[in-house]
Amino acid sequence: MKTIGLIGGMSWESTVTYYQIVNETVKRKLGGLHSAKVLLYSVDFAEIEEYQAKGEWDKSAQVLSQAAVNLEKAGADFIVICTNTMHKVASEVQREISIPVIHIAEATADELRKHGITKVGLLGTKYTMTQEFYKSKLIEAGIDVLIPDEEGITTVNDVIYKELCLGIISEQSKQKFVSVIESLQRDGAQGVILGCTEIGLLIGQEDTALPVFDTTQIHATKAALLAIED
Ligand code: GLU
Repeated sequence: MKTIGLIGGMSWESTVTYYQIVNETVKRKLGGLHSAKVLLYSVDFAEIEEYQAKGEWDKSAQVLSQAAVNLEKAGADFIVICTNTMHKVASEVQREISIPVIHIAEATADELRKHGITKVGLLGTKYTMTQEFYKSKLIEAGIDVLIPDEEGITTVNDVIYKELCLGIISEQSKQKFVSVIESLQRDGAQGVILGCTEIGLLIGQEDTALPVFDTTQIHATKAALLAIED
C-alpha cells in the first residue's frame, strides 16, 4: 500500500473528514483491520488565511511547499492538499517535490465527466469562485462553470470563513446555501460542486434535488484508491 501525504489544517474541520474517508475507503475495499497509511502535515490556518486576505500567495506557497518537502522526506508516495482554495499554489508546490500532487479540481472534473455533466454550479471561497486557477481546470475538461451572483458569493464565502472553518454548523446558513443552489439550477446547472472542503459539513445530497459533487469526498476517495491500486 502507498502512503498518502495529506497537507491539512485548512481548516482542520475538513481534514478530519479526509482522514475518515481515506480510512473508510481502504476498509471497504480491503476489509478486516486494513486502514490507510497516512502522513499528515497540518498547518496553522490563521497564518494561511492572513496570506490569502493580503494576496500574499507566494508566502502561502512557501508554507505548503515546505510541508510537501517534509512529507516526501518522511516517505509519502503522493500529496493531497486538503483544500480547494490552496490549489491556487498547487503548481508551485509540485515544482519542489518529485512525487505527484493529486489535483482536487482534476479529480472533480473526472467525476463530472463520468456523470455526463457539461454545465455545473460552483460553490467555494470567493477565491475559488471568482479566480481562474480552479475554474480553468473544469473548462479545460469541457465543462461550463456557473457561479452565484455577488450577494451569493459573499454569503457562501462568509459562511465558510466565519462558521464552517470554526466548526459552526447553522440551519439558517444551510437554507441560504440551498437557495443559492436553487438559483444556479434555474440558470441551467446540471449539478453543483461543493468546491470547498468544509461545505459537506453543512449540506449534502439530501438537501437538494440537484446532483451534488462533494470535492472532499471525491478527492479523499481518489487518494485512497490510488494508495491501494496495484
Ligand atoms: N477548505 C476550504 C477550501 O476547500 C477553504 C479554506 C481555505 O481557504 O483553504 O477551499
